Amino acid sequence: MLWAKNGQRDDLVVRGARVVDPVEGIDSVCDVRVDGGLVAQLGTALDANGHRVVDGEGLVLAPAFVDPHVHLRVPGREDEETIASGTAAAAAGGYCAILAMPNTEPVVDSAAVLGSLIEDAQAQAVVPVGFLAAITRGQEGAELTEMAELADQGAAGFSDDGRPVVAPGLMRRALQYHTITGRRLALHCEEPTLSRSGQMHEGAVSAELGFAGYPSVAESVMVERDLALAAYEEAPLHVLHVSARESVEALRAAQAKGVQATAEVTPHHLCLTDEAVRTLDPNVKMNPPLRSGDDRTALIAGLKDGTIGCIATDHAPHARHEKEVPFEAAPFGVTGLETAFAALYTGLVEPGLLPLETLLERMSAGPARVYGLEPPRIAVGAPANLVLLDTAATWKVEEDRFRSRSANSWALGQTLKGRVRLTVAAGRVVHES
Ligand SMILES: [Zn+2]
Ligand SMILES: [Zn+2]
Repeated sequence: MLWAKNGQRDDLVVRGARVVDPVEGIDSVCDVRVDGGLVAQLGTALDANGHRVVDGEGLVLAPAFVDPHVHLRVPGREDEETIASGTAAAAAGGYCAILAMPNTEPVVDSAAVLGSLIEDAQAQAVVPVGFLAAITRGQEGAELTEMAELADQGAAGFSDDGRPVVAPGLMRRALQYHTITGRRLALHCEEPTLSRSGQMHEGAVSAELGFAGYPSVAESVMVERDLALAAYEEAPLHVLHVSARESVEALRAAQAKGVQATAEVTPHHLCLTDEAVRTLDPNVKMNPPLRSGDDRTALIAGLKDGTIGCIATDHAPHARHEKEVPFEAAPFGVTGLETAFAALYTGLVEPGLLPLETLLERMSAGPARVYGLEPPRIAVGAPANLVLLDTAATWKVEEDRFRSRSANSWALGQTLKGRVRLTVAAGRVVHES
């Protein structure tokens, strides 16, 4: 389900880092040796075996991150991102695997388009990448794709992301296909007659700024519908980019009743609120929009208690000329791969809102589990998927540092705490700083 360039597996020893693996229950200072791309030994004062030694003193070594929601923009918008640039950005962000969304030009709705993406990934991907395929042909919401065939070919899941599946009958049939494909549906929950031409969250700030509102109920009413259908069909589903308190509450209630529902939240919804829109910066315009402080509090609580099991960037590159326009005219979406850890460390861990261990789990094993990928772990014999983090380092987010082809980051110009020093993905060192 994941594809990357072939390459040499590396040998190395990371010495004296604080090794934190929430899945394996490890939190201690020790050395980790990697032989031929596999974790070979954990311990103190390990023999380097002639391997390259990386000094980890004062740093945190954790399982590398998994991003289940990235827009790589291929095919069709290679000016905004490519598999090469997007996976390089992922490596710089500490990721060892990413999943790409199918709302491209053309849409990933056929075996031919999926097959050519897989070939491109085998030629270009620095970090293993998987591809979701569309739920409906052309993401037009009228007719299901050949889901069984796409799953056989290696689709990691199905999504019409960018758009909701509006017709409940079609959504129900898509859920029924789970018994055949075994792949999860990932849903962009938006009731389009409620969100309409909304530019930002509907509330006091939108009223003051005079922008058309996109109310939180436009999301939660669709989350509730899809949870009801999933319960009825006894099929699993995944809710993309949850933004509203009511959605978190609906998920929590459904999970308590045994519905197999998972959910993700983005760094921007965890760190910002609609107050940020007062800047009129097009880089705080996204779908779903930044919501109220109360919604943000509910998202953090949901992430903490596991109702929301993973963090996804929804990395959505846009060309400069498209974003350098007035707020009302700008497209929705922001980048996030290269700033996710630092933004969340600065916004949640430093102020004591979320333990570091929880953040690490929600960025790594959490998303892997949703899509049935092997969770990255620091255990003898496991493939080396590692990230070395400097939680004391501060850095300024600047456009010329990005590996991504696009720079529409909401964090531009900010000074963040937490740097990725080294990323090992599938046994290869893919990033160092
Ligand atoms: Zn979406
Ligand atoms: Zn998206």
